[in-house]
Amino acid sequence: MALKTPVYMDHAATTPCDPRVVEAMLPFFTTTFGNPGSRNHSFGWDAEAGVDRARGQVASLLGADEKEIIFTSGATESNNLAIRGAAAMYEKKPAGQTGRGHIITSLIEHKAVLDPVKRLQKEGFDATFLEPGPDGLITADMVRHALRDDTILVSIMWANNEIGTINDIPPIGALCHEKGILFHTDATQWAGKMPVHVERDNVDLLSMSGHKIYGPKGVGALYVRRRKPRVRLTPLVDGGGQERGFRSGTLNVTGIVGLGKACEIAQAEMDHDAHRLLELRTRLEKGVTARLDSCQVNGHPTKRLPHIANISFGFVEGEGLMMAVKEIACSSGSACTSASLEPSYVLKALDLSDELAHSSLRLSLGKWTTAEQVDYAIEKIVAAVRKLREMSPLYDMHKEGIDLSKVEWGHH
Ligand code: PMP
Repeated sequence: MALKTPVYMDHAATTPCDPRVVEAMLPFFTTTFGNPGSRNHSFGWDAEAGVDRARGQVASLLGADEKEIIFTSGATESNNLAIRGAAAMYEKKPAGQTGRGHIITSLIEHKAVLDPVKRLQKEGFDATFLEPGPDGLITADMVRHALRDDTILVSIMWANNEIGTINDIPPIGALCHEKGILFHTDATQWAGKMPVHVERDNVDLLSMSGHKIYGPKGVGALYVRRRKPRVRLTPLVDGGGQERGFRSGTLNVTGIVGLGKACEIAQAEMDHDAHRLLELRTRLEKGVTARLDSCQVNGHPTKRLPHIANISFGFVEGEGLMMAVKEIACSSGSACTSASLEPSYVLKALDLSDELAHSSLRLSLGKWTTAEQVDYAIEKIVAAVRKLREMSPLYDMHKEGIDLSKVEWGHH
């Protein structure tokens, strides 16, 4: 059978909805359409039952209690609620003053963590942005060195969305607990793919999203610990007092039911999927690097999500590379910000040059990716890189053994 193109290899950006998830959601659009806040009739009760079930499914995936799950519109909102909500609740000095408290995070967090922390800086909080090692990892020791007497919150992602590196979350959580500091983790790329147990892993606040785990877009959850310690948050959205006052607004029942079903499926299938994906990712990385020189797989060699491959290709121009592999739907090492093409700040934090960051591809595989698709991607990428290098005088010089870092270029 002919392969259908483009081949989707951007599952870290979003995943298709599992048909079993869609099936679970459908009745809640039409028949079970009630508002779970309606206390006086069965329409409300039935919708509430759907939400309760989903809450149980999410809690079960995380090893949490149902009362500890707050439904949100996605990981962006979960991160904002965790970070801004904790900062407002645990601040040391009133709004408007400086020295309101110190927050530790990392340089390679998603913008949905970086930007709320930066806004808090403007509002009088201090922040430390930890720099990862060249393998992309943030360690408990790095956090330990950054701790201050006035540190109120540590926020470190479980796994990075661009390079897939996995941080050692349990020891970071243990350190925070030992010091009595709240610990939040953005687990958007981790939860539902790899095992989580908030108790064992010492997590106080955890963000996750539906659309990264074969659930619908626009729904997510925040785990908020209720015991040892009982975490309090100032809400971002006030109103009807839903979600125990943490997040007002009529619940997105269909989305929540879908998220719950996605969590149930993930819990049952993640082991199998992770093994299969690791095999496919290895096939992809080996297939490319065995046939091309001057390329590198970014991130940690082993502490890396099984489905994300981030590969940089020397001596090719980034935009040309993206054009040449357009039958593969993947991400590049560039972020389009307004008018300019910025190299990825994550790759830059790993000390990659701007050129190498631009000529990087993030290929993220999913539940329905096949070996045939992987082999197709290998062929396309190898052919594209070879072709672009044929046009590169720098590559010729490199082949001739000239050390390009020592070449003095004329400036015009
Ligand atoms: N954090 C991480 C690590 C992510 O990968 C993403 C999605 N790219 C988000 C947060 C934002 O998630 P959402 O789309 O659910 O708001």
